[in-house]
Amino acid sequence: MTTNPLSWIEDELQQLDSAGLLARIRTIESPMGARVTIEGRQLLNFCANNYLGLANHPRIRQAAKEAIDAYGVGPGAVRTIAGTTTLHVELERRLAEFKHAEACITFQSGFTANLATIPALVGPGDLIFSDELNHASIIDACRLSRAQVVRYAHCDVADLEAKIAGAGAIRRGLVVTDGVFSMDGDVAPLDAICAVAEAHGLILMVDDAHGEGVLGQGGRGIVDHFGLHGRVHVEVGTLSKAFGVVGGLVAGQETIVRWLRQRGRPFLFSSAMTAPDVAACIEAVAILSESDELVARLWDNANYMRQGMQALGFDTGASVTPILPLMLGEAPLAQEFSRRLFAEGVFAMAIGYPTVPMGKARIRVMNSAAHSRQDLDEALAIFEKVGRALEVLD
Ligand SMILES: *Cc1c(COP(=O)(O)O)cnc(C)c1O
Repeated sequence: MTTNPLSWIEDELQQLDSAGLLARIRTIESPMGARVTIEGRQLLNFCANNYLGLANHPRIRQAAKEAIDAYGVGPGAVRTIAGTTTLHVELERRLAEFKHAEACITFQSGFTANLATIPALVGPGDLIFSDELNHASIIDACRLSRAQVVRYAHCDVADLEAKIAGAGAIRRGLVVTDGVFSMDGDVAPLDAICAVAEAHGLILMVDDAHGEGVLGQGGRGIVDHFGLHGRVHVEVGTLSKAFGVVGGLVAGQETIVRWLRQRGRPFLFSSAMTAPDVAACIEAVAILSESDELVARLWDNANYMRQGMQALGFDTGASVTPILPLMLGEAPLAQEFSRRLFAEGVFAMAIGYPTVPMGKARIRVMNSAAHSRQDLDEALAIFEKVGRALEVLD
């Protein structure tokens, strides 16, 4: 009898399940917004990266519909063959203008933006200095490049300097960091990192997925936040979070963008973004260019929730952004907390090992401009009730 070559997968899944680590995927039955419908019930939504409430914005819906009438849906090709439409070119031009960058190139997602960029910039024999908490897409892109990866302690500029000094002669080197770290909501000290990279002649890249549309003047991102225009070689962003659509981008110097058009493999070998997605992104840039009202509302809401949670006695960790972790410690407690929130009408995710270190499990509260003050007060009351019931609060 032959053995089933997939039986090990069933074993692994079984083990994950018994350890309580099997990812449970909720199905959303409504548009993305302040509230979502799950299992026929409306819940207050604190899970989405829909920071500005654009995912279901009437202007963005309309732009996507009009683009379908003008261009159809599928691109039919990769960007370099027949997949570049006037919409793609316009989006890139408008993004560069919005971000005060020399140039911009877009990708199908933030993930593919990273996969395109890092292997195009460094290769075997080169060095990458990478924050130990960088996103999975950066880690995978570093592996794909086959450059040597040196991890430095989280947001620790002195350790970055020490690692660079310890590396000896560097032929070509890249420093890469997340802008906003998605599990803690802290911000990389990009000004200090930039000074170190410049002193050593290294390429500097920041992945601003959670800062795009959130940080900087009117949501122009982390480079704008620190006033580092022209000094950060690669600013990766996503159109899938605050921009409310899907897609990725690299903004930076013209040289980088011209090179990625030649060597960014997901740009060369994976089909272009669809017409409605691109048109929706153009509309999102237009909305942000006209007014900073949504960004201001996001920060008002985030600050209100941070103060509210802290006043109740929750530990919000290192967060200084709309990502608000409630540090609970052990994973089973965080899971029970999330289950009870769900029963009470709040959708907020428990996050545990291996996404965050052992003993640092938390509930991650994602704030949005979509929430009304009444939504926030209703949520705070439910967090308080569950916090007392589980003796997280006294
Ligand atoms: C979400 C995220 C990505 C992936 O972006 P997508 O557009 O969803 O593919 C990449 N990097 C970081 C830091 C992220 O948080």
